[in-house]
Amino acid sequence: SNQRRPLIAGNWKMNGLATAATSELKELVALAKDHTAPKCDILICPPATLVREMASAAENSSVQIGGQDCHANDSGAHTGDIAAEMLKDAGANYCIVGHSERRADHGESNAVVKAKAEAAHRGGLIAIVCVGETLAEREADKTLDVISDQVRNSLPNGATASNTVIAYEPVWAIGTGKTPTPLDVATVHAHIREELAALMSDSAQVRVLYGGSVKGSNAEELMAVENVDGALVGGASLKAADFWPIVATS
Ligand code: PEP
Repeated sequence: SNQRRPLIAGNWKMNGLATAATSELKELVALAKDHTAPKCDILICPPATLVREMASAAENSSVQIGGQDCHANDSGAHTGDIAAEMLKDAGANYCIVGHSERRADHGESNAVVKAKAEAAHRGGLIAIVCVGETLAEREADKTLDVISDQVRNSLPNGATASNTVIAYEPVWAIGTGKTPTPLDVATVHAHIREELAALMSDSAQVRVLYGGSVKGSNAEELMAVENVDGALVGGASLKAADFWPIVATS
């Protein structure tokens, strides 16, 4: 129904030590190489400590590497933080910004997320901007209002379909095994696309991912939903054997 190339992205969160991570990544690369013309883009976002090593393990393959967060500034006195340019230098092409765990654990506002996405662009990275309602917001029937607010206020200035991806991740579906119905996903994705149309000239080409408890057994149903252009996957991205079946649905 569209020309958008799906993106299947894995978010390893705070998991991964070099030896086991390298073997999982190499297994994923081998699977990707067996399928000469993957119909989707494949991305793994490991912890920052592993970006360089995973990028090297993924060299000359269709697997790309991304960061999970970056600072809003390009460099300087920000102890413990990571600049987009550093991720790029280590081999990343993408960076997740505004994941709900960062919005919750680090108090990241829409304004902060927007500034981080702009920093990702300056550093040469594609920003994956995450949005999603909490359970309380859903139960109060505020989902679409919350999504509008997040999309309008977290979308970076200068966003285009080539430098920005949106990930819709209902907070209550992350790591819980619960997923919205396909109809609920369709409603939110159509709403996001409507919001984007007012904000960007090439909005029709922007990829909008679904995230939240995607696994091999539900990926086909979720990826078939109108306006879903791929997935952001947490738990099921840690093992190549769990992640590949999700990639293979696209
Ligand atoms: C995520 O953190 O982006 C995510 C979707 O996690 P999970 O797949 O484990 O629900």
